[in-house]
Amino acid sequence: MNREETQKKETNREHIFIVRCGEVALKGMNKPYFERMLVERIKKLLKKFDGVSVKRHEGLIFVRADGVLDKQQIIKEISKVFGVASISPAVECESTMESIGEAAVEYMLEAIEERNIKTFKVEAKRADKNFPVKSPDIGRQIGAAVLKGCKVLKVDVHHPDCLLFVDVRHDTSYIFQDKIAGFGGLPLGTNGKGLSLLSGGIDSPVATWMMAKRGMMIEAVHFHSYPYTSQRAQEKVEDLAKLVATYCGRFKLHIINLLPIQEQIVEHCPEEETTILVRRFMMRIAEKIARDTGCNMLITGENLGQVASQTAEALVVTDASVSMPVMRPLIAMDKVDIMDKAQEIGTYETSIQPYEDCCTVFLPKHPATKPKLERILASESKLDCEELIKAAVTSEEVIDIYPE
Ligand code: ATP
Ligand code: MG
Repeated sequence: MNREETQKKETNREHIFIVRCGEVALKGMNKPYFERMLVERIKKLLKKFDGVSVKRHEGLIFVRADGVLDKQQIIKEISKVFGVASISPAVECESTMESIGEAAVEYMLEAIEERNIKTFKVEAKRADKNFPVKSPDIGRQIGAAVLKGCKVLKVDVHHPDCLLFVDVRHDTSYIFQDKIAGFGGLPLGTNGKGLSLLSGGIDSPVATWMMAKRGMMIEAVHFHSYPYTSQRAQEKVEDLAKLVATYCGRFKLHIINLLPIQEQIVEHCPEEETTILVRRFMMRIAEKIARDTGCNMLITGENLGQVASQTAEALVVTDASVSMPVMRPLIAMDKVDIMDKAQEIGTYETSIQPYEDCCTVFLPKHPATKPKLERILASESKLDCEELIKAAVTSEEVIDIYPE
């Protein structure tokens, strides 16, 4: 078969993907619930394609897609679903040794066309224990059939170019070679809802993604200091939010103008306390929005020691401003690892665009790195905090964020 014929055949044939659940499979009595949620998420992400079905069967999830659809695109979408451990594009055949042998030969002939494969090894598994041939014998016999049908191939049990998996199940068997890794985690919607404080930086999109990966639904808040911060800076945050939404689905982004509060702080409080005071206001406003929108916790991209406002002492003072739990998934990570993660999930390039953040407006020359809570509380007593927070929340703008 030449390349053109192979491609033609490929477009006519339905694509089949085996999707494996990771941790979801360990959830005991809750397993069906987690699997159902996972199937729902995959269905939701693939809804934009016509001719796709998603079904649970014998502990696996099977995605079937019309042959005209782009296989790589579908793999990309499925791999974004939290809870997916791996994906294998597969072919299926009847569960008889003859059919499996024929399908394996055909599969390998196509694989040879696509890439330079010289050696292979069959890895056979008999999920159906009533199947009359045992796994090692399936491996040997299918290996022999492939050798006979694909003359260019040799067996290499130690370092094969291609591991040919044969999964024999009741009625139907599956043949595949790749196990494309997903992100793992838990399906969205299985672990409450968090309000993420989303800046335009590198850290907070990663922090949001990490919590969503544990099954948490997301709502977000962004603070700006317009006109000190530009409209373009806000658009950058919306762009970042859209990228995050490709993983965690559509969500609401609350936009708050912090400038009136910052002006009050600058006018009435010591300069070196500005940053920590602003951060405490951010947290309290976020907490109020979180309570109003049914969130269980706050999420920030804070990281121990990264900047003056993230020393141990500063974090204690920040934390004391709210009673809701604050999740800081990046707290102990190194910056390079956070940057790598941002690259991996696709937010890095947008995050490094050079736009100003409200935190950099009115930045003190020497921020207090070891703030004392009593002194901060004394400074705040000069402000009508409750009224300022209420006014900020009342004038919020809410934007619906859809996946990019
Ligand atoms: P990032 O890279 O996420 O901007 P950062 O290292 O710049 O983080 P800070 O500016 O001190 O750190 O902010 C710490 C955390 O506070 C951020 O990760 C984010 O969760 C929140 N935050 C900071 N600025 C804003 C903002 N303008 N709007 C919403 N949240 C913010
Ligand atoms: Mg920042």
